[in-house]
Amino acid sequence: MRRRLFLSTLVIILITLLLSMFSVNLVFQRQFSYYLTHTTETALDQLPDRLSSSYLSNGCWDPQALDDIVHTLPLGTEIVLKDPSGKTLLTLVNPMETMMHNSSGMGMGMGMNMGMSYSVQEWKTKTLNVNGPQGLLAIATVHYPASARILNPADVSFVSAIYRSLLLAGSLALLIGILLSYWTSRRLVSPLQRLTKAVHRVGQGHLDEQVPISTKDEVGQLATAFNDMANNLKKQEYLRKQFTADIAHELRTPLTSIRSYIEAFQDGVLQADAENLTIINEEIKRLVTLSSDLKDLNVAEIGALKPNFSPINIEELLDKVVYSLYPLIQEKEIDLEWEKPKEPIVIQGDEHLLTRLFYNLIHNAYKYTQSKGQISIRIDNSTHNVRIRVRDSGIGISEEDLPYIFERFYRADKSRARETGGTGIGLALVQQIIQLHQGMIGVESNPGQGSEFTVILPKKAGTV
Ligand code: ADP
Repeated sequence: MRRRLFLSTLVIILITLLLSMFSVNLVFQRQFSYYLTHTTETALDQLPDRLSSSYLSNGCWDPQALDDIVHTLPLGTEIVLKDPSGKTLLTLVNPMETMMHNSSGMGMGMGMNMGMSYSVQEWKTKTLNVNGPQGLLAIATVHYPASARILNPADVSFVSAIYRSLLLAGSLALLIGILLSYWTSRRLVSPLQRLTKAVHRVGQGHLDEQVPISTKDEVGQLATAFNDMANNLKKQEYLRKQFTADIAHELRTPLTSIRSYIEAFQDGVLQADAENLTIINEEIKRLVTLSSDLKDLNVAEIGALKPNFSPINIEELLDKVVYSLYPLIQEKEIDLEWEKPKEPIVIQGDEHLLTRLFYNLIHNAYKYTQSKGQISIRIDNSTHNVRIRVRDSGIGISEEDLPYIFERFYRADKSRARETGGTGIGLALVQQIIQLHQGMIGVESNPGQGSEFTVILPKKAGTV
């Protein structure tokens, strides 16, 4: 890619350079040719006066003085001077050979002297009257090249100098262009090469890999996206490891307890009475809840969870959830405020999943609220949506934890989670259920003061 980038930039530079040199050359040729024609015409206009003053000051047609005059005319020009009776007095020539001899080696070999030719294709003839104070002195017939050519040594050297500087500027621009395109292609490609290497390393499991971000352009954005992705993978990997350790712990605790009880029964240390069997049953229930949470989350995450939509009276559903949690809430002496809607609200939803959703939210409110705290549940009805708010006066969630609580296995306070039996799956499952119902969930929390979870559910979910 780097070579291709370099070559394409180079080709663009070359084309631009050639085009600009060509147009400069064209404009220059035109302007210079116009200048030469103009000079010739002016010299011819002044010729009669110059011839007559030469005659008057010398008293005769002095060949030397006339030679000087003819040399100011274009090369190749021939003047035939006749007296008024038509008798040829003199023939003056500004020969081309002189110039050819003088100009050899004056940059003409550069191949840039377009339009500078020694062979004159077209000629013009002009007849001029040379007048003196006493009337007509002579008649000059001037035969000169029709198109202005750069034949004069001074002009040739001027043109050569122009072309030389044009060529120099061109070469310099080309050199700078090559260096620039080499530098640009290197600058563009090396971060991509670094990124490719980093991607390979991440693929091999080195999730610590990060690339430096030196620009804010598309490549910089790609590098930022890569770093974010690697960070995310690292975090997920950490959460996965953490989760495995937590699950192992969560499984081992009740299992160890059950085994101890059974060993005690076998040794006759404890009686397998109702009280002890209830304790074992509680531990088994905990294991069942954990495994069903895990199964549900897994099914929801792989997209296999198919909600069974039916009309649901949201008040009745919340009533059932509150009822199932009421003994726990009462035990903790929590003040529960359940503000029921004035009229029945029916939405389309999956009864089992929505029960799980609100069970998890209210159970969390209960888990993270100290005894004698408060929990309030409110419903707001609108045309298309229903909004359910679960607020508690519990421990709250810190600002750093807030963005992550809906991620699976995330628990703000790991030590407390052991106490409360949390696995960090509840809210991840809530999130999945909300998505299946095309709803939204938000949370506001102040550490030490409590949290409020707001669920918005469309009334007609699953009907489109
Ligand atoms: P867990 O089983 O640990 O409760 P969740 O996914 O339900 O897992 O919640 C994730 C984390 O969010 C919890 O560990 C807890 O730190 C925090 N959290 C959830 N709900 C509340 C709440 N009502 N008050 C305070 N913290 C909460």
